Amino acid sequence: MQINKNPEKPVQNWRFLSQMLFVFLSVWIGIQFHFFVRWLQSGGMAPYVSRPAGVEGYLPISSLMSLYYFVLSGNIHPFHPAGLFIFTGIVGMSLVFGKSFCSWACPIGTISEYIGEFGEKLMRKLFNRGTFNLPKFLDYPMRSLKYFIFAFFAYSIFSMSERALKLFLDTPYNLMADVKLYQFFADISEFSLIVISVLFVLSIFIRNFWCRYLCPYGALLGIFSLLSPYKIKRNVKTCIDCGLCAQACPQRIKVDKVTTVVSDECTTCMSCVDACPVADTLFLENVVTKKRFNKKYIAIAILGIYFALVLIGMISGHWHSKVPPKYYLEYYKDVRSMGHPTKPEDYKGIEIPGRGKK
Ligand code: SF4
Ligand code: SF4
Repeated sequence: MQINKNPEKPVQNWRFLSQMLFVFLSVWIGIQFHFFVRWLQSGGMAPYVSRPAGVEGYLPISSLMSLYYFVLSGNIHPFHPAGLFIFTGIVGMSLVFGKSFCSWACPIGTISEYIGEFGEKLMRKLFNRGTFNLPKFLDYPMRSLKYFIFAFFAYSIFSMSERALKLFLDTPYNLMADVKLYQFFADISEFSLIVISVLFVLSIFIRNFWCRYLCPYGALLGIFSLLSPYKIKRNVKTCIDCGLCAQACPQRIKVDKVTTVVSDECTTCMSCVDACPVADTLFLENVVTKKRFNKKYIAIAILGIYFALVLIGMISGHWHSKVPPKYYLEYYKDVRSMGHPTKPEDYKGIEIPGRGKK
């Protein structure tokens, strides 16, 4: 049996690079979108900066509606088409490799992970102990909170007919959803700032607080991840019960106590596999074909699914919004007073050239 007390962490290096790539893309998109909003604020007088299509990755609800509309009608809604492909890429990653989006790409997941690591070091230095884990009787119901939040959105969306979906997706509210999101952070209210600060502080002392208990996106991906054929497997014959895998797991999964990790919290981060000191003892396996997945190719496989979907959106001509910028200028004037439409009868669709009135 080959034991390596200080195993190298090749997958973690690739995962770090992947996380940094997505942080960089988010910052880049954020800066470009900021200048697009400046152009809107100037009434079109400032130099024009095009709206980055990638911003639609931050509209998961609109994207889920768009995906459901596509399933029902076979049509790609023209307002946020990139969001549909980004969302499908994220769901695709989870269907094949568990909740991998959370640990390989999500910028919030990345921030949460590094806040948690900082908290771990801080707690060790100050109190000679790690971060807190909620007791089981609190942890389980708290973990279900994110499923309740997701169930609310899912019920609202999946109870809509094709017509109602189209009417909603056609509204100025949906068109301006990204601008409204920008304004939420640009003019953040005192209450929202307090909530974000509380979540930040909680994430220092309880690892992944937001992702573990509250993120509805994580809940959706967690459901899909249970269908994923790739699971972490432990060879009980060669395992030396050192517990390093469980210690390395940021999701506190007891990897050393199971033969197959079946958990909606597993993010396929591969930290446990990298930490295992015994060769061929912990690995990723396709539980259907019983074939092991060579961990050297995990980064390329996970990112490959995501970028393949993005590429399909780009080359099929469904990446950039079909709404001309002058419509953004027109609706920007009312964006602050624009409320969430509640009844289909109240939806007032936008007319864009080549599509007619909705
Ligand atoms: S079980 Fe392994 S792959 Fe899953 S979250 Fe824990 S460390 Fe990551
Ligand atoms: S599977 Fe976990 S407990 Fe077993 S040898 Fe590897 S790290 Fe140690």
